[in-house]
Amino acid sequence: MNDYHYLAEHSPAALLLVQATGTIIAANPAACRMLGRQREQLQALAVDDWLQHASQVLSVIAAAPDKAVAVTLYTGDGAQLAAQLHVRWSEHADHGRVASLALSRIATQARRTDDRARAARTAIEHMDEAAVLLDAEARIRALNPAYTRITGYTEAEALGQPLQLRDSQHEEGFLLDLLAGLEAGQGWAGEMNSRRRAGEYYPAYVKITALDRADKDGDRLFVAVFRDLSADKAYEARIEYLAHYDTLTGLANRTLIEKRAELARIAVARDGRHLALLFLDLDGFKAVNDSLGHALGDELLCHVADRLRSAVSKTDIVARQGGDEFVILLDSISKPEDAAYVATRIQEKLRVPLTLGDQTVFTTASIGISCYPDDSQDLTTLLRNADMAMYRAKRQGHGRYVFYRPEMDANAHWMLQLRNNLHRALERDELHVYYQPFVDVTTGRVTGIEALLRWQSDELGMVSPSDFVPIAEETGLILEVGEWVLRQACQQLQRLHAQGYDHLRVAVNLSARQFRQTDLVAQIAAVLEQTGLDGRHLELEITETVLMEQAGATLDTLHALQALGVAVALDDFGTGYSSLSYLRRFPITYLKVDKSFVDGIPGEKGDLTITRTIVAMARSLGIRVTAEGVETLEQRKWLRHWHCEEAQGYLYSLPLAADDLEWLLSNHEVLPLGNETGTLASEPTQLSKE
Ligand code: C2E
Ligand code: MG
Ligand code: MG
Repeated sequence: MNDYHYLAEHSPAALLLVQATGTIIAANPAACRMLGRQREQLQALAVDDWLQHASQVLSVIAAAPDKAVAVTLYTGDGAQLAAQLHVRWSEHADHGRVASLALSRIATQARRTDDRARAARTAIEHMDEAAVLLDAEARIRALNPAYTRITGYTEAEALGQPLQLRDSQHEEGFLLDLLAGLEAGQGWAGEMNSRRRAGEYYPAYVKITALDRADKDGDRLFVAVFRDLSADKAYEARIEYLAHYDTLTGLANRTLIEKRAELARIAVARDGRHLALLFLDLDGFKAVNDSLGHALGDELLCHVADRLRSAVSKTDIVARQGGDEFVILLDSISKPEDAAYVATRIQEKLRVPLTLGDQTVFTTASIGISCYPDDSQDLTTLLRNADMAMYRAKRQGHGRYVFYRPEMDANAHWMLQLRNNLHRALERDELHVYYQPFVDVTTGRVTGIEALLRWQSDELGMVSPSDFVPIAEETGLILEVGEWVLRQACQQLQRLHAQGYDHLRVAVNLSARQFRQTDLVAQIAAVLEQTGLDGRHLELEITETVLMEQAGATLDTLHALQALGVAVALDDFGTGYSSLSYLRRFPITYLKVDKSFVDGIPGEKGDLTITRTIVAMARSLGIRVTAEGVETLEQRKWLRHWHCEEAQGYLYSLPLAADDLEWLLSNHEVLPLGNETGTLASEPTQLSKE
């Protein structure tokens, strides 16, 4: 590189060599920087791409070569740049007449300062914080729009007035003292409770700085910047809320109830009272959520929350644990049994029909109860106990409550034993089918029988189906067992028909998993075929939860069963989410009113109304009603009064082994038996039944 070349490369002056047409032949690095382009890019540009009003400029400089010309250049980033052009024309050996150009920016000092001030003002005007310029008397000399936004004072109202930042924690002359005490360049910052024009107090974070320059009269100046913290405080409150409350229902959450429970525990420990935790889980919520959709599911949870709140006293706390689980703290009861009243009241409240979208649903919950100090001294254990009791309640059917008992700790162990033994039960002949009659409420005659599974285990004794059916369901064993029960039941009914009781039907319970089998209908048809039983004498009991699970497929299955002549009964109706529109939609022949309603006859007014409503409604839809769990003559009287056709329960007969059933049928045409039940009330004790 020769020295001339070196000079051009390193010159601070921006230099261009251009043809008379304005095409750039060469550019030094300073010119490239100024124009914001690479050398090659510049060389490829048409003159109009880098020079504004190019033809006029070219003609001016061609005529008056030594004059400096003010021009506007286009830079690579699309901006315009004001510059001065100095030109010298010469003859180039290769390019002919060329112009050497020296470029310099035009930027006066004044304009730069102006620009900066304008930028600063823009920034201040757009700040979220209020900014004011104060004199030593704290009078406002200037303010930004945020000041008006935050305080409500307009510029006209505020200018010349003292800044008001008084609050309860700071004395009247605080601000003046503060300003007097600040040296130039020093500052003070703190939180204050300030007041808006409308009178409302708001928290503000204030920062005051003493400027190191005075005004033209020599007065000291200060800048105060302050931020309205009310949004932050609201945010903090919101965070606090989220930490302790459930956003969907507005109920307390688990954290809050634990805190409250601890306080309550300390209080009751002093005065010798009791504390109860109720763990509540809605029955069949998953099904309702899946079939109604999540929005209605959420709505249901909110209704449940309201009902729970209304079922307890003001000092008790209702919390949502998550999903469809709720925890209720009864913070001062005189005895554990009081919790049972509350549980009953909750069930009553939940059971009142509810309209969701175009559906009417009844809700029930399973409730587990555990008490302090009886069940545990420790809250975590108490909650676990209540949870365990809730599971127990669930297994007993829907809409029940169960108190925690220490034996339940053995529950996990018990379940494991069941699981281990169950798969051998069938091959060891430990499973039996018992039969419980249905009776015509008016005539007392037996109209049919329900097959109820029994497990007489060598190792575990008599195990309740409420205990082992869920396990069989979980493991899939229910499919095999269920088919076996079906076959047994059909055979037994055939035998009874052969003995002359050919008006009887048999009802078989189907679990959810059985009902979901794709070959269910074929399986039933095959069993009917093999046993020679007419489908018209078979009834299948399913629960509402099963019905709601997969509405479309369910309807197909039900129609196929109908084609076989097989009747379908809705078992345990009134627990879960009894939806009246479902009754209308699905071909259902029988409806079995759950025992928990029958239990309320004749005492509970709510149950009475609901039972009566269910009976009337079903009848109007042509569905036959069977009342489950009828135990007293009084209950029978009411059922008859309401035209409930059929009943089942200990009043008439316990579930019986096939032989006992045959004996009953051949010896008694009419039930109940009165006082002669002795020999029949002998079903083996069920170990695990509550
Ligand atoms: P479920 O179908 O609702 O049967 C009625 C239950 O109530 C039976 O209990 C019966 O013994 C009992 N019960 C009947 N009358 C009275 C009464 O007056 N008072 C009282 N306290 N109880 C009464 P069980 O036999 O223990 O069966 C419990 C549940 O187990 C059944 O409820 C049914 O859901 C299920 N289950 C029984 N057998 C089978 C089966 O073969 N397959 C399937 N999938 N489930 C079955
Ligand atoms: Mg049943
Ligand atoms: Mg039932």
